[in-house]
Amino acid sequence: MRVCVYCGSSAGDDPRFAATARAFGAALARAGIGVVYGGGRIGLMGAVADAALEAGGEVIGIIPRFLEEREVAHSGVDLRVVESMHDRKQLMADLSDAFVALPGGFGTFEEFFEIVTWVQLSLIDAPCILANVDGYYDALIALIDGATERRFISARNRAIVESYASLDEVVLRLTDMTIV
Ligand code: AMP
Repeated sequence: MRVCVYCGSSAGDDPRFAATARAFGAALARAGIGVVYGGGRIGLMGAVADAALEAGGEVIGIIPRFLEEREVAHSGVDLRVVESMHDRKQLMADLSDAFVALPGGFGTFEEFFEIVTWVQLSLIDAPCILANVDGYYDALIALIDGATERRFISARNRAIVESYASLDEVVLRLTDMTIV
């Protein structure tokens, strides 16, 4: 079982973001869940990876060659260097059983919503989870709910995006998947 973690290449304006990322990486490792992520050492990405590694977890990083320097490719993880952003997203999807967005920016939003649309189109079937810690994603959830009210998103597709207000709930959702 592996979870793809999308999160900021920045650390945000509050040390609590990095603490959340570390807590999540460690919790996944303790739960025996592998991490698939963007492969960098910077920002929340690095925090998730370092914490998962320290807790003895499996960490696979997928980074396009042209970002190896900019995102400071993590030499401690199982690093897969690919040629393009599309290759990165495809491999992340191929290796993962669920997808979680921690706080982040455009890259995080883009990666998360692309996977949501793959589920919407039935190309894959996997949980897509917003880790809405400290209400970071409240505004995004309001946008999704507004689009659902205005019938641009069907109630069925609205259900693709799950959100939880605490990491504990996210981890519980993921560990439930491991019980078959
Ligand atoms: P950000 O949330 O903007 O800090 O970006 C988080 C991660 O998303 C970074 O590793 C970016 O390289 C990555 N990213 C941004 N755009 C894309 C894309 N189109 N495909 C794959 N990864 C992306």
